[in-house]
Amino acid sequence: MLPTAQSPGEDSMANSLPDSAAAVVIGGGIMGCSTAYHLAKLGARNVVLIERSKLTSGTTWHSAAQVRQLRSTISLTQLTQYSAKLYASLAQETGQETGWRQCGSISIATNPDRLVHIRRQASLARAFGIEVHEIDTAELRDLWPVLNVDDVIGAVYSPSDGRVNPSDVCAALIKGARAHGARIYEDTAVTGFQSMAGRVSAVQTTGGTIRTDRVAVCAGLWSRQVAGLAGVWAPLHACEHFALITKPIAGIDRMMPILGDHDGHMYMREESQGLLVGCFEPNARPIALEQLPADFSFDLLSEDWQHFKPIMKLALHRVPALEDAEVRMLLNGPESFTPDGAFLLGEAPALGGFFLGCGMNSMGIASGGGAGRALAEWMLAGEPTMDLWAVDIRRFGRFHNNLNVVRERAAEHLSRHYVLSTPGHEAASVRDLRLSPLHHCLAEKGAWFGERAGWERPNVFLPGSNGSAPALRFGRPAWHEAVAKEHQAARQAVALFDQSQFGKLLIQGRHAEAFLQRLCAGDMAVPPGRAVYTPMLNQRGGYESECVVMRLDERRFMLITGAAQAVRDYHWLESHLSDGEFVTLTDITAGLGVIGIMGPKSRDLLRCISSADFSNAAFPYFSHREIDIGNTVARAARLSYVGELGWEIYLPTDQAVTLYRQIEAAGEAFGLRDGGSFAMAGLRLEKGFCSWGHDIGPDDTPLEAGLGFSLGATKETDFIGRQAILRQRDQGLEKRRVIVLAEDPELHLMGGEPIVADGKILGRTTSVAYGHTIARSGWGSSAWPDRRSRSCCQRPVLSSRWPAGGCRQPRNSRRPMTQRGRACALMAEG
Ligand SMILES: Cc1cc2nc3c(=O)[nH]c(=O)nc-3n(C[C@H](O)[C@H](O)[C@H](O)COP(=O)(O)OP(=O)(O)OC[C@H]3O[C@@H](n4cnc5c(N)ncnc54)[C@H](O)[C@@H]3O)c2cc1C
Repeated sequence: MLPTAQSPGEDSMANSLPDSAAAVVIGGGIMGCSTAYHLAKLGARNVVLIERSKLTSGTTWHSAAQVRQLRSTISLTQLTQYSAKLYASLAQETGQETGWRQCGSISIATNPDRLVHIRRQASLARAFGIEVHEIDTAELRDLWPVLNVDDVIGAVYSPSDGRVNPSDVCAALIKGARAHGARIYEDTAVTGFQSMAGRVSAVQTTGGTIRTDRVAVCAGLWSRQVAGLAGVWAPLHACEHFALITKPIAGIDRMMPILGDHDGHMYMREESQGLLVGCFEPNARPIALEQLPADFSFDLLSEDWQHFKPIMKLALHRVPALEDAEVRMLLNGPESFTPDGAFLLGEAPALGGFFLGCGMNSMGIASGGGAGRALAEWMLAGEPTMDLWAVDIRRFGRFHNNLNVVRERAAEHLSRHYVLSTPGHEAASVRDLRLSPLHHCLAEKGAWFGERAGWERPNVFLPGSNGSAPALRFGRPAWHEAVAKEHQAARQAVALFDQSQFGKLLIQGRHAEAFLQRLCAGDMAVPPGRAVYTPMLNQRGGYESECVVMRLDERRFMLITGAAQAVRDYHWLESHLSDGEFVTLTDITAGLGVIGIMGPKSRDLLRCISSADFSNAAFPYFSHREIDIGNTVARAARLSYVGELGWEIYLPTDQAVTLYRQIEAAGEAFGLRDGGSFAMAGLRLEKGFCSWGHDIGPDDTPLEAGLGFSLGATKETDFIGRQAILRQRDQGLEKRRVIVLAEDPELHLMGGEPIVADGKILGRTTSVAYGHTIARSGWGSSAWPDRRSRSCCQRPVLSSRWPAGGCRQPRNSRRPMTQRGRACALMAEG
């Protein structure tokens, strides 16, 4: 941790650069070293790492280098678990020590909400296979003798966490990489890129140009700038990051666990028999790149005691011995943070072969081992080998790269890193980035907006609230009754949902049908006027996306996807276009508003403002057509995500308000209400509908999800993922998605909870919501039984015939909700 200004790459080669390379990794911090190591180890020949200064000279050398393994998702946790294993074993492989010390970690709570939080975290850790124990204050004092525990009301201890020496880890990775043929070039800066036909073709450096079709930008807080040289967005921003380091203090032991006192915004660990006190202060400060000298290397920012003062006060309370400790330094090092607090990984949608591994949000050492492996695998396989959506660069659009946006949002995320996140919390900075055409109409009605992929969308309508957030708390939320009214309107009368934020991609050309047949598992050879609910699968049979495709005419299709998926789906489609395939793709999301009219009275309402025939015979499920409606011309599609009779009306954004007002006027007679995303969540879960990115994702197949019906039953064409699905059909399933009902109405779930039966963890919840129709008896949640416990899923869902089995009902079928309740009981009995 302490500045030694020593590069572990002193022995790296300083010869002239090669003309070409299989892959060029930019940056010699933990991410670059790990990526180069894994690329070389996985067999890539001729891997080159370019570092503008010396290895580890960016943020890595001054890292506190704790490796805490629990992360927000199972995949990210698996990456840190892998990091820990790698760091523990690298010395044996390379002969270079990493400083791995398995000292464990502790989180303490000083208020009841925090206690609930750390217990929830402990449950999650157990569900992800990490050992955790709750400990009392006596045990805490044993492990941390200098701690003031007067106000501590609980603690959890995770013995398998640890710490490393970051420079030594990099030295070991580089040694390993070189043993597998990688070459390292220090004092060489990347200055530009060349591309050809939408793909990177060369890297320009101060030492010459290297031809390559694979690049990984691991340039830490400089990555936005470096990626910008290729026209690629990498939304991250540097922020100041503080840690106090003391001289030795009596009672401090080198094996003391890392301590997390998140109510005090800080963490502590032993450092050369003294203490290191790091913080995530609530008033974090961004720092512009221009404020750093161009040759910033093994450097730090200036100390700022005034800024650190509030944390110092809290630290003195927690460890009174600090009062007499001699300070070695107040370290202020820049680190990169992203708009959502998760790092940036994967192929940039703007340029083929151009990968990112950056924006580590102060978790770069813990994540680096696993993230470097995941990035290397992605670069070699052409697609991620596991579900990495939480960190996938494609969750961001180009607009997120705006400097104001990244600066404000990155600083806000850093400030909130240790703040308890109450359900319903929304970011405060840079709001109103993307507004639906109906935004002002909905705001007038008291919409409290939440943000999704930059879009403002109503969470719930709170009339008279001026749209301000209600009081946030754990337990039964303040908006419970308001959501109930919207929910009931959709089930018993009619509700209007603004769905304009849906991603909408136009796919056209003479090969459009054949192209979609290859990409989609559903059958796209349908007549114009039909819509198909379909997965797009990866080679492993997992969901790359779940979408609805409307055939507009012989050569044109419109793909409807989730708000956050448009960039990703566009990239997936584009990267699978073959040479000679005559297909064009256009993202038309912003051009069309979508008004969902849902509920048993939706047909009666629509008849008041349109002469179109909305009968079952003339307008069946999964059909769509252009109609006159109100004073507008729109495309009405008989689809519903709430599981009721309903239509989604697609029309140009400039006419959306006109139609909204006409629907509003006509709807009064039918009890029309506006509905928000909270009501939508409960409605869809009652019907068992999945949400991509929550309930299903790249590691889950349609068979596991119980959505076998969405695989084109009669489709002859081969499609991506078919072979994997066929194999799985023959071999049987290891896990299944099920619906769980919590019978205790006061059990307030938040998602991610482990599901325990007979003392065994069977799985964990994905989406959760209150089901206001199901006799208000509980919280519906969709859960994945754990792979390791086969108890409830030994039988394959599919029987012998391809692709039979499962439920054949379409997405908006009126499946009785009580059956779902029984399904839950089945799982618990399993
Ligand atoms: C005080 C502090 C405490 C921390 N504690 C922890 C912790 O406990 N646990 C944890 O997991 N993480 C921690 N972190 C975060 C962690 O250190 C970082 O996430 C990690 O080191 C970032 O590594 P990186 O490889 O992304 O970037 P860097 O280490 O910054 O590496 C990027 C490299 O790219 C090079 N580069 C830039 N531009 C170019 C160019 N044009 N051409 C060639 N090379 C270029 C730079 O010179 C640099 O060497 C902490 C950070 C700080 C500041």
